[in-house]
Amino acid sequence: MTIRDLLRAPAPTLSFELFPPRDDHAQEALWETMARLAEARPDFASITYGASGTTRRSSREVVRRLADAHTIRPLAHLTCVDQSRDEITAVIEEFLAEGVRDFLALRGDPPVGQPDWRPHPDGLLYAHQLVAHIRHVVGARGIAEGEYSIGVAAFPAAHAEERWRQQGLDVLLAKQDAGAEFAVTQVFYEAAHWEVLAADALAAGITIPILPGIIPLLSTGRAARLEQLTGVSVPESVLRALAAEDDAGAARAAGITHAAALARDLVSAGAPGIHVYTFNRHEAALDLAAAAGLAR
Ligand code: FAD
Repeated sequence: MTIRDLLRAPAPTLSFELFPPRDDHAQEALWETMARLAEARPDFASITYGASGTTRRSSREVVRRLADAHTIRPLAHLTCVDQSRDEITAVIEEFLAEGVRDFLALRGDPPVGQPDWRPHPDGLLYAHQLVAHIRHVVGARGIAEGEYSIGVAAFPAAHAEERWRQQGLDVLLAKQDAGAEFAVTQVFYEAAHWEVLAADALAAGITIPILPGIIPLLSTGRAARLEQLTGVSVPESVLRALAAEDDAGAARAAGITHAAALARDLVSAGAPGIHVYTFNRHEAALDLAAAAGLAR
């Protein structure tokens, strides 16, 4: 079953996002995290992707270990930024050789602090072009439709802002038209943001499942860092709940309670499952999965 099929099945899915380790110490910690996450029997795990050669190699190692040691289906992220078409083709072929059949096609973020940065002259500019490129490369290897699936990013919090709404829908429709079969969302904190995006997408002819991505917030410090990283504001009510607790354990519990309530509301509203951003830590991700009733 591809991830497209899993997201179209009646039971809500549980999945986790991991990122490739940067050194040996982080790698050992990640192997432990993966072993613990595997105990919740997730439907799949996604692995983020950076354009550097080191991260590429460690992404492949994570993918291999997920599939071999834990029998967890990998969803390999791919990005356009700073790579030629040929380089992107080579990465897709490496993943295919590892047995990967599910891809998340993203543009990637241009490097920060480089005002003279220009897109690669022989690269791809937008995620929808990457979707078409993956389909081309996979098709050329004789892998049939239905044996692989391609997802893309969606942005519920940006959609909540009137000024981004139509552009976001146009871009998501272009991704679907290029062959995307599911979407995974950026982090957000209010069920209504996903519900409005899902309803508006359907009205615009976007029928692919939109899988919500959730982060359990464990402290006000972490909430502030995430706001900075993602540009998505944390609601005042959540910040107050985190700040009201005077010890770290109670603040953490408040954060898990909020994320679990969000997950339950989303599944009740028809979300195909929940994708948990783990930051390569298993504890909060597993507590959230258990509190939301999604761990097996
Ligand atoms: P696109 O759809 O290409 O959109 C990028 C920008 O171009 C948007 O502003 C869009 O409005 C605009 N645009 C799109 N099409 C057109 C067009 N035809 N004409 C004009 N403008 C257009 N980044 C990484 O580097 N590695 C990762 O592993 C990674 N994983 C992610 C996972 C998820 C679930 C999410 C939500 C994001 C992830 N990102 C990752 C970040 C992502 O790459 C950035 O958010 C990026 O800025 C947007 O990516 P996109 O795929 O939506 O790009």
